[in-house]
Amino acid sequence: MYVSVRLAEEKCNGCRMCVFTCPDPNVFNFYKDKKKISVNASRCKGCGLCVVACPKEALSVSAG
Ligand code: SF4
Ligand code: SF4
Repeated sequence: MYVSVRLAEEKCNGCRMCVFTCPDPNVFNFYKDKKKISVNASRCKGCGLCVVACPKEALSVSAG
């Protein structure tokens, strides 16, 4: 089954916990000026670590 991460942008506060937590450095990009995250879901392994780490419940992992 193919699973990948999804970001609810409106919940994100730019804390970068997901960036520090994800074992793949190519999934998350942080835009310093906007304090926003973008997600390259095709690189996600679906491990769920970022879902647990995010304090704003902005991340989820689902089949897609
Ligand atoms: S589920 Fe795992 S691999 Fe995917 S973005 Fe989150 S921490 Fe990275
Ligand atoms: S951990 Fe959650 S709130 Fe923090 S930057 Fe990542 S998605 Fe945004």
